[in-house]
Amino acid sequence: MRQPVIAGNWKMYKTIRESVDFIEQLKPLIKLADCDIVVSPPFTSLSAASKAALDTRIKIGAQDLYWENIGAFTGEISPQMVVEAGCQYVILGHSERRVIFGETSQSVNKKASAAVVAGLIPIICLGEQIKERKSGKTYDVIGMQFRQSLAGLTPETVSHIILAYEPVWAIGTGMTATPQIAQEVHAYLRELTTEMFNPSASDNVRLLYGGSVKPENINSLMVEKDIDGVLVGGASLKVESFSKIINFKIP
Ligand code: PEP
Repeated sequence: MRQPVIAGNWKMYKTIRESVDFIEQLKPLIKLADCDIVVSPPFTSLSAASKAALDTRIKIGAQDLYWENIGAFTGEISPQMVVEAGCQYVILGHSERRVIFGETSQSVNKKASAAVVAGLIPIICLGEQIKERKSGKTYDVIGMQFRQSLAGLTPETVSHIILAYEPVWAIGTGMTATPQIAQEVHAYLRELTTEMFNPSASDNVRLLYGGSVKPENINSLMVEKDIDGVLVGGASLKVESFSKIINFKIP
């Protein structure tokens, strides 16, 4: 039985004070929730957010890291630094990093391995662009990103990581993939996991959907058998909408 995960990606939003206030306001609203809860503030807020979330169900994630542990890498942050700031998770390969900052699946792969060694749970994002979907290339693109991003990981490791299917055309656009579209890609990700690793890794790996998730569509997404949770951008920035998503109900 896979434990559901509701993860928020705050991108470059929220000061330290705003991050702490958010967590304080969220705490009383999630007492009955039946899922793992992750929030991913900007680097500057990680430490304060982790302290605010101590002894609660809320876990903290970083939005990226670099694969080396120490050295002359101006502007980068190491897995150990992320752990020291109180994180248990790290988002890797988000489409904004791939599209705006030139992140490749090869670098995601190095980051994922380094994250695992440091004891972090990577949330590895994959997803096709609209032109790729329209030209029938969705499965080729997802397959390539999957193989390259997860190369060299062991089945045991893959059992504990999280993959997030985030169609780029659905991120921040209000255009959610239908639950059926998301389910089809998630089923494909499980097939790929069986093929490249083994059936047990495929059963255990948690698969999130991301792309314009809101309180209005969470229940219909969570009903799908291969959707184990969601990665939420915009709607994770407001306590009201994020807490409603966390308290999803499968009818
Ligand atoms: C995201 O940034 O990962 C995301 C899914 O954003 P949004 O929910 O705003 O579409």
